[in-house]
Amino acid sequence: MKKILKVNDLSVSFETYGTDVQAVRGVSFELEEKETLAIVGESGSGKSVTAYSIMRLIDMPPGKFDGGTILFNGEDLTLKSEKQMQEIRGKEISMIFQDPMTSLNPTMTIGKQISESLIKHQNMSKKQASSRGVELLKLVGIPNPETRINQYPHQYSGGMRQRAMIAIALACNPKILIADEPTTALDVTIQAQILELMRDLQEKTGTAIILITHDLGVVSSVASRVAVMYGGKIVETGNVDEIFYNPKHPYTWGLLGSMPKVDSKGEELLAIPGSPPDLADPPKGCPFVTRCPYAMKVCRNNMPEYTHLSDTQKTACWLLDERAPQVEIPETAIVGGYKQHV
Ligand code: ADP
Ligand code: MG
Repeated sequence: MKKILKVNDLSVSFETYGTDVQAVRGVSFELEEKETLAIVGESGSGKSVTAYSIMRLIDMPPGKFDGGTILFNGEDLTLKSEKQMQEIRGKEISMIFQDPMTSLNPTMTIGKQISESLIKHQNMSKKQASSRGVELLKLVGIPNPETRINQYPHQYSGGMRQRAMIAIALACNPKILIADEPTTALDVTIQAQILELMRDLQEKTGTAIILITHDLGVVSSVASRVAVMYGGKIVETGNVDEIFYNPKHPYTWGLLGSMPKVDSKGEELLAIPGSPPDLADPPKGCPFVTRCPYAMKVCRNNMPEYTHLSDTQKTACWLLDERAPQVEIPETAIVGGYKQHV
């Protein structure tokens, strides 16, 4: 498979009130054509900043690139001008957000908002754009699209608005769709429907997806690969089976332990004790050190290198060093039947 996006050693920080918040610290990952990569991690891990960086939607200043490259079709997006980015955003790379109400324009009909990018990027006439709009609404499962296309966002339910956002994002057949917590604001039933829609659309359109979520539970039904992010770094990457059945990073164990299990009968969920590191003063070593039950002296001052566990899985943890004690995956992190989760 062709790699369409290569993020290499990306670092992004925000300078506010004299402090430098190092939101993303040396992140590297690749996205293949037609795949879905999930980026998972607690709030504050740097997931959104990574996504916004790809779209070049970070205000600079206060934000700045401290290093790294974002290669899209071989071209470095960190070097593009705003004008060049306008040609890429929406056409080549699209993004949907947690709350469609903040990204939809309340004063414009849904149809007009879909047409806008079709007219701009695809040189369609108004009439062509309008009939493509109906097609797109149908594709994302909006009932009565011929009527609905002339309605305003407030006339749509929350789930329908998210569907409309997806229709707008897919209007120009982008190569990449970045979805930042697309289902977090929705209730569980609607959440499952939107995830199913994304999976179907991916099969139909072949758009590669970066799905960003704090909830590992939504990952298994849509993604093929997972990057686990914490403290501005990717601490573990693997395909879905590796992350769910053979996780190696204690932070991944923590996330798995805090995920509702299919067979759990009202068992208490185990949140990871402690809180994420202060990225204005990031730890020198492993970001998880203060919360890790297995932390060793070496973890404090030295960031572990990645250990390659397979062609697809790599993990940055000192426990994988041959000199480290053998640690078993805790019971709480062992998942069963996760595939039925959604
Ligand atoms: P996530 O999406 O994983 O919850 P974010 O990428 O939003 O996390 O944030 C990562 C870190 O960057 C957080 O510490 C956050 O406070 C900081 N950050 C994000 N955006 C800004 C900004 N515009 N100005 C200053 N700090 C920011
Ligand atoms: Mg976020």
